Amino acid sequence: MSFSIKTKNELARITPENVCCQLAELGAMIRMDGTIKISPGKGLSLQVVTESAPAARKVFKLLKELFQVPGEIIVQRKNRLKKNNVYVVNIPSQPEVKNILDKLGIMDANYNINPEIRKDLIDSECCQRTYLRGVFLGGGSVNNPEGTYHLEIITADQIHGLQISNLINNFDLNAKLVSRKKWWVVYIKGSEQIAGFLSLIGAHTAMLDFENVKVYKDMRNKVNRLVNCETANLTKTVDAALRQVECINSISRTIGLDKLSPGLQQIAKLRLEYPDTSLKELGEMCEPPVSKSGVNHRMRKIEKMAEDFKKRK
Ligand SMILES: [Zn+2]
Repeated sequence: MSFSIKTKNELARITPENVCCQLAELGAMIRMDGTIKISPGKGLSLQVVTESAPAARKVFKLLKELFQVPGEIIVQRKNRLKKNNVYVVNIPSQPEVKNILDKLGIMDANYNINPEIRKDLIDSECCQRTYLRGVFLGGGSVNNPEGTYHLEIITADQIHGLQISNLINNFDLNAKLVSRKKWWVVYIKGSEQIAGFLSLIGAHTAMLDFENVKVYKDMRNKVNRLVNCETANLTKTVDAALRQVECINSISRTIGLDKLSPGLQQIAKLRLEYPDTSLKELGEMCEPPVSKSGVNHRMRKIEKMAEDFKKRK
């Protein structure tokens, strides 16, 4: 199950306590996923289409409790390519549908669609949160935190998109709006922002999952950085040792190692014998022992000599 669907299932199981919030969430879901049909003589009918069974049940339950309308949930298999079922909450033609749409601020008494969210639907903070939960349930998706951090809500209307992003940004988050073909996309980037939004709309389990994966991911990055760093250091050490061996060999070919001072001679012979030992360990093998920086100093002298010979040639 995708992270999006998991998150939506969690959100769909939350029932708002207050009637104000119930209206806000239902209004959001119907504005996002609803279709209104006019049949002459019979009035309006309403269909709300969703791929989430719990979301369909929620719409159905809210419609029933708030407006006592008879309806049904129809399960459809979209087509053979899409494996997800589609759930349609169907409220057949009846006079009450017009009243519902009016009360939720979606359509006025003259059958005009209101582009803006009805003000009293999102008056208080509790309703603003539940409205956002509704739009996320209706048209939202969120990437699995193991991938890139991205959450979006797709709506058909620019004004609605703008209102959604303003609502989100009023909670100190940073949502942006872009057009995508004939749609408007409100999106949020960044792990902290997304976790903040999930928590705002009540998806606490999803938020925890999100943060856990993030902690794990950060840790893994840190470990990778450490490993890369150690590998880099190791490569550097090996490169340095190879260079030293080369220099010592060239000195040995030109003037011979026995022409070196006893200190340099000792370190040169040890290096040839132990090409993959660290400078510190080479120092410990010396008689008397030499510090790492002492060994380093001697190695530099040897390298310098080898270079000078090379130049003279
Ligand atoms: Zn409320």
